[in-house]
Order: sequence, then C-alpha cells, then structure tokens
Amino acid sequence: MRRIAVVTSGGDGPGMNPVIRAVVRAADQAGLATVGVRDGFAGLINGAYTHLDARGVSGILHRPGSVLATARSPRFRSTEGRREALKHLDLAEVDGLVVIGGDGSMRGADALSREGTPSVVGVPATIHNDLAGGDFTVGFDTAVNTALESIDRIRDTAAAGERLSFVEVLGRHAGWISLYCGIAGGATYVVTPDAGADVGAIRAAVRRALALGKRYCIVVVAEGEQAGSTYDIANRVCEDLEGVEPRVTALGHVQRGAAPTMRDRFLGSVLGDAAVTALLDGEDRVMLGERCQSVVRTPLSRAWSEHHAPPEGLFDLLDRLAR
Ligand code: ADP
Repeated sequence: MRRIAVVTSGGDGPGMNPVIRAVVRAADQAGLATVGVRDGFAGLINGAYTHLDARGVSGILHRPGSVLATARSPRFRSTEGRREALKHLDLAEVDGLVVIGGDGSMRGADALSREGTPSVVGVPATIHNDLAGGDFTVGFDTAVNTALESIDRIRDTAAAGERLSFVEVLGRHAGWISLYCGIAGGATYVVTPDAGADVGAIRAAVRRALALGKRYCIVVVAEGEQAGSTYDIANRVCEDLEGVEPRVTALGHVQRGAAPTMRDRFLGSVLGDAAVTALLDGEDRVMLGERCQSVVRTPLSRAWSEHHAPPEGLFDLLDRLAR
C-alpha cells in the first residue's frame, strides 16, 4: 500500500475534521501518501483530488464540518457513476480509500468496494448514531450538546405562566438524539421516530408531572420524516389540557453546525488512526467503531443494514427520573 484517499460524504456533521487529520497523520507516519477528495462521492466521480500532508491538516481539529466539504451524489448510486469513480482512483494510483460518513455513505462504500480494486474502510460520522458496529458515531455527542444548550435556554427563559415546551430535534430514523437530549435535559417525555407520537401518552405524562408539582415540562420530539410536525403534536396534546399553552421550538440544522466536542474529537482521532491501521493490515470493506473503549471492525454490509437502537432500559430511566 502506497497511497490512500480520504473522502467525507453525505450529511455534514461535527467531528469529520479530526478524522481527516488522524488519517493523514497516521498515513504519513506509516510512509503512505494521502490525497483528499473534495465534495464527497461527487468528487470521486469527477476526480476532484487535493494533496494532503501532515502540516496541511494543522489547525482543523476544532473546526465544524469538513475541510474537504461533503455532498450527496445521486450519480454514485448507479454502477456507471461508481465505475467512473473507480477509473479516477486507478489513475491516481490509490490503493486504499477511507470513507467518512453516515449509513448512506457506508452503503456507497460497500457497493464501490465490491466493484473495484482499492481496499475500502469506513469511519462512521453522522449525528444520528444509526450505524451498527460501535457505541457511538462521530458527531452524535456534539449534536446532542448543541441541542441541550438550546433546551437549557428554553427552560431558563420560560415566562411566568408557561408550563409546557415542545422541542423538536433532528432524527429521521434513529431516536438517539431525542432520547439522550431527553435524559440529559430532564424531559418529561420523549417522542422517537421508531415509536411515533402517542398523543394520549404525552398528555398523561404532562398531567402527571404537573400534578406532582412540576412548574415546567419539556417534551423532546424527534422530527421524524416531516420536520415541523411537532406543532401539530403540541396542539393535539393541549386540546385536552386546560390552561396550558404550549411553546414549540424546532432546532433544525443548528444541530449540525458546532465545533466538535472533546468526545467527538477523541473518537474521530481514534477511528481515523484505526482506519489507516486496518488498511495496512489488509482489511477491506470494514467499518471502524469503538465499543467499550476498544476499536472494533465490522463488515460494512452489517454496519449499514443492522438496526442500531438505543438500549430499552434508557426509556424506563427517563420515565422514572421524570417523576
Ligand atoms: P449519509 O452518509 O449521511 O447517510 P446519504 O444517505 O445522503 O448520507 O448518503 C450519502 C451518499 O452515499 C449518497 O449521496 C449516495 O451518493 C451514496 N449512497 C447512498 N445510498 C447508496 C446506495 N444504496 N448505493 C450506492 N451509493 C449510495
């Protein structure tokens, strides 16, 4: 192995830069050259390569997003698009490719590596924590902390008389962000995409909390397939709650924008380094992850296809601590 390429793909998220930095520096120390691919899989198709070296990745560890930029590429879903990408990888004499991204990117990486020669390894970087093969994905911790900051402010600024807030957080398929925000933010109830919104159960939880003497309740809602649906949920919950006017805040994409937290810088550094080790070990088509502080390698096909759900016990914990 002499030359590797690194690409950031899919939804942008905090913590991609620490991964890039770790990949480049680990490769450098192993005597490998690194090229960066701009704009995700679209850049692979167009051959948008840029030289990267150890000094070139100075000062990026703490920056949000990805210095290589990320993008979505419909063309990469086709064999024709991936063939074009493989052609450019071959021309650039790339022997190993590190794909940093979420579940779609891992699918793309899996498909590419079945059709061509460079070894491909993945590093899970998505705010959703929806990949199997590790406890957490890079970016999840930052996204939760960003949402928590807003939840704390919403609680602090509640005016006299206000008793109920709904906060909509990101999360289309996975309920991780809403559940972790709920537990760490002291929510009364959490709506996850898996379970959906049970209006009666939300109303019962709010009634119970108010009857227990709570002055203020927060319900965290994962946005699900349709952003903004929390307004409708809030109105339906309050139809039958006398004297309670809900306040609704949809946090939206602010959750993607922050500088990575210590945890994400740390995880990104560990997994970026492990990605290069895996390539040097001759691995192909695996995703790196961390489980109980040990690095694990999972076949890409399992990483994107298996459901990664939060432990059931956490829902019970939230419910018990909300009383
Ligand atoms: P994320 O990686 O954050 O989940 P996406 O789901 O948008 O983001 O996927 C990123 C890119 O991965 C897509 O734009 C596409 O190029 C590629 N991709 C997604 N699914 C597939 C697939 N089934 N086959 C090949 N490529 C895919």
